[in-house]
Amino acid sequence: MKTNKQHIEKALELPAFAYIQKAADALGVEAYVIGGFVRDTLLERETGTDIDIVAVGSGIALAKKVAELLPGKNQIQVFKTYGTAMIKFEDIQLEFVGARKESYSADSRNPVVENGTLEDDQNRRDFTINALALCLNADNFGALLDPFNGIQDLKDGIIRTPLDPDVTYSDDPLRMLRAIRFSNQLGFTIAQKSFDSIANNSKRIDILSKERIVEELNKILACPKPSKGFLLLDQTKLLKRILPELIALKGIDEVEGQRHKDNFYHTLEVVDNISENSENVWLRWAALLHDIGKAPTKKFDKKVGWTFHAHEFVGAKMVFKLFKRLRMPLNEKMKYVQKLVYMSSRPIVIAQEEVTDSAVRRLIFDAGDLLDDLLLLCKADITTKNPKRFARYHKNFEVVKEKVIEVEARDHIRNFQPPVSGEEIMRIFALKPCRQVGEIKDAIKEAILEGDIPNEYDAAHAFMLTKAKSMGLFPA
Ligand code: ATP
Ligand code: MG
Repeated sequence: MKTNKQHIEKALELPAFAYIQKAADALGVEAYVIGGFVRDTLLERETGTDIDIVAVGSGIALAKKVAELLPGKNQIQVFKTYGTAMIKFEDIQLEFVGARKESYSADSRNPVVENGTLEDDQNRRDFTINALALCLNADNFGALLDPFNGIQDLKDGIIRTPLDPDVTYSDDPLRMLRAIRFSNQLGFTIAQKSFDSIANNSKRIDILSKERIVEELNKILACPKPSKGFLLLDQTKLLKRILPELIALKGIDEVEGQRHKDNFYHTLEVVDNISENSENVWLRWAALLHDIGKAPTKKFDKKVGWTFHAHEFVGAKMVFKLFKRLRMPLNEKMKYVQKLVYMSSRPIVIAQEEVTDSAVRRLIFDAGDLLDDLLLLCKADITTKNPKRFARYHKNFEVVKEKVIEVEARDHIRNFQPPVSGEEIMRIFALKPCRQVGEIKDAIKEAILEGDIPNEYDAAHAFMLTKAKSMGLFPA
């Protein structure tokens, strides 16, 4: 196994660091690489493409000097207000900042900033494992500066704040979400004191912008086992402030000896299941939200037991409101999630009865391009702990899936365009756009989906003539 020193030496071979060293020494300022790059190097993880550089002095001046020395034309972007600069070099983004000291006020996560020492700068970092710095100056190249025992925390797998966690989290509540996200990404444990402090400061999350919250949620959802992050969000009382719709799914009610499952824990299992089969974060959102309509629709019926009537429809509407509240884009991604939520029970409902060709054709038609993802979601939705039921549900699911493949191969419903177009109907019967055109078109579509006629032009044409005749219409 390589030692830390060897990992560091290897990582610092990256050409960019030699230029930064030259520039820093020429200006006579100390320069360090800090944060995620150092952490991930020591963890032997992929280091990503953004590298953070701290100068004890002006970050912008250092960046300008580096840009001068780099071969070729390199784009440098300067953000004067923030005192930062960014250079793109060989697929890497180098972010430069001057070492700073920060002080916060209660109503904002934007601190008052003054110049500081490297130590001041490490103090303002969120976690000990993110405060590790490597010196880039020639006389001390590769030296590791670890004032808070971050190396030990890396070894032990612990997320801990450099300062009193109440101060760190209250100053910038985004760090609470970052703690949970890093814990989930790295498989680390949040130190108990930190954990308690997050729970105590959970209200502070309300000052965060929705965009930053969603960014972290997306990162949690992108983890191999997102449930771990959501359980932590729940235990620290953050989840109820961010996604109360999920909290409403908690609990098991019992009436007359009949119980329903806890749909909160079920949902988290579905998210983990889907994550084993797809990296698509929007499909993971769909899994997370697929049952949210169950809370407002839950009823106990003496004859049939617990029901969640129309929960898919209600859930799809809630998706829109939730996206809007979290300022997530109300675009085709939202519609994708909505549609999957709306259709989430369809394949299983089909499986409960005899799987007819026409039901499968309708499923394929309605799902369109989302069919594969919908089937993945349905499979992930099977979480019963009863082995017999588990086997039966999976078998039913496979029957539907095979039938889908068979029907699609034969009938080509997936990107189905009615074989006779509206324009053609108008031309044949000399009609202007009107209700009758739509009626004939719909009838053709229905006849094909029902299996009354094949999905072919001649059959559709003949059917159209008959249908039109019954409406008193004849070819012009
Ligand atoms: P990754 O890029 O993988 O998400 P990272 O640690 O590089 O991880 P960035 O968001 O790129 O995270 O931030 C770079 C560094 O800046 C962090 O390692 C940390 O030292 C510091 N940092 C970022 N956000 C905060 C914050 N909200 N509070 C304090 N320090 C922060
Ligand atoms: Mg980073």
